[in-house]
Amino acid sequence: MASLNDIRSTFLNYFAKQGHEIVDSSPLVPRNDPTLMFTNSGMVQFKNLFTGVEKRDYQRATTSQKCVRAGGKHNDLDNVGYTARHHTFFEMLGNFSFGDYFKEEAIPFAWELITKEFDIPKDKLYTTVYHTDDEAFEIWKKMGVAEDRIIRIPTHDNFWQMGPTGPCGPCTEIFYDHGEHIWGGPPGSPEEDGDRFIEIWNVVFMQNEQFEDGSMKALDMQSIDTGMGLERIGALLQGSHDNYDTDLFKALIEASANVTSTDPYGEQNVHHRVIADHLRSTSFLMADGVMPSNDGRGYVLRRIMRRAMRHAHLLGAKDPVMHQLVPSLVQQMGQAYPELGQAQALIEETLKQEETKFKATLDRGLKLLDDELDGLDDGAPLSGAAAFKLYDTYGFPLDLTQDALREKGRAVDTDGFDAAMAEQKAKARAAHVGSGDVAEDAIWFDIAEDNGASEFLGYDTETAEGQV
Ligand code: ATP
Ligand code: MG
Ligand code: MG
Ligand code: MG
Repeated sequence: MASLNDIRSTFLNYFAKQGHEIVDSSPLVPRNDPTLMFTNSGMVQFKNLFTGVEKRDYQRATTSQKCVRAGGKHNDLDNVGYTARHHTFFEMLGNFSFGDYFKEEAIPFAWELITKEFDIPKDKLYTTVYHTDDEAFEIWKKMGVAEDRIIRIPTHDNFWQMGPTGPCGPCTEIFYDHGEHIWGGPPGSPEEDGDRFIEIWNVVFMQNEQFEDGSMKALDMQSIDTGMGLERIGALLQGSHDNYDTDLFKALIEASANVTSTDPYGEQNVHHRVIADHLRSTSFLMADGVMPSNDGRGYVLRRIMRRAMRHAHLLGAKDPVMHQLVPSLVQQMGQAYPELGQAQALIEETLKQEETKFKATLDRGLKLLDDELDGLDDGAPLSGAAAFKLYDTYGFPLDLTQDALREKGRAVDTDGFDAAMAEQKAKARAAHVGSGDVAEDAIWFDIAEDNGASEFLGYDTETAEGQV
């Protein structure tokens, strides 16, 4: 059985044979791109090549790109533990053309790889195109795909954008039908969010650029940007619909079960999934220089860590767990990503410190949460004041509280939470004696807030992408 490491190599070598330069993954913190919190797709490092601002000595490239989707336009944090196909950290396999080939070649490249090299049966595959893209529709027909398996989609699902600005364009996606025993419907249907029809590959026809004022212009060059989740194609090739059943995830889940002396599967499996996923995103973020903090990227990192730590706690772990799993991760992925081994000591030490610190308040916070819930009517949301106390006194990021409540079918009164936060800020302003110059103090506060001095800036979806 091909491992994820084998599949990554097969992909890169296939495109190398077709004249593509194998380019290393770029770091998770985008270089020179203030519009994006984390690298969320393969095209990020090539953004300026699509717009023609930058030129390199190759026009075709292939990568396996480290991606994190835990904030901003593409945020899958809440999907982890609930779907079989989403991670916060994943590897995106891609091939790129910078003004070289376009639709006519990109579609056959993808089709040949999955149906010949990977030998995936054609009768399990479906494709989608942007509703007005007759050209892509015709190319799929030429490849032998039946018309009723080429679905026209009118939504943004088939018009790809990295973020609010930048190169973008219509896309075509390839889906695999994992069969009736799994819940879900074909793309475009009301049940498409299920895991039966899983999107494996997205091929973007880069031909536009989106600007901040909402306008969009046609790019001078027509380019190609594709992305296929390694874990998704890996699951498929290893005979499952579930990314967490792949060799790599099984190893991490078993490590998590070992250190907590619990059952890797059965009821506790969901906790192990979250832990395994968050172990990858937090470790890779630290390997790329992000450290836990109270704002910006560092706060997203801390939020992910703490979510994992709550799940470890639910497994009954008395001692810090996360740092003990790092060696298994390095064993699985250290060869493909040497930065992981280089940062291993730092990652372990940081996780250990963070978990030790959070454990000191976690128990009491969860107890407070239980007490609050006992006093609530069926289905009523947790008050904003309680959620704020958990945040302020016990270090529970709002989304951690929401994650804990979701299992119980409850929500948080987020307006109340925002109000409590605003009130605290106002009190801090009032208490600040400062220089006595009112205007100067006001400027100081605005600067502090713009720079994310408050924890609050860290998780809001708008600021998560825009203000770091
Ligand atoms: P989905 O609709 O399933 O959420 P997507 O359309 O958001 O996927 P794209 O932005 O098109 O995904 O990314 C390209 C490819 O990367 C997808 O086809 C999929 O194989 C993979 N992928 C996307 N998001 C994730 C994730 N959170 N975890 C694992 N793989 C992912
Ligand atoms: Mg998605
Ligand atoms: Mg999609
Ligand atoms: Mg897609």
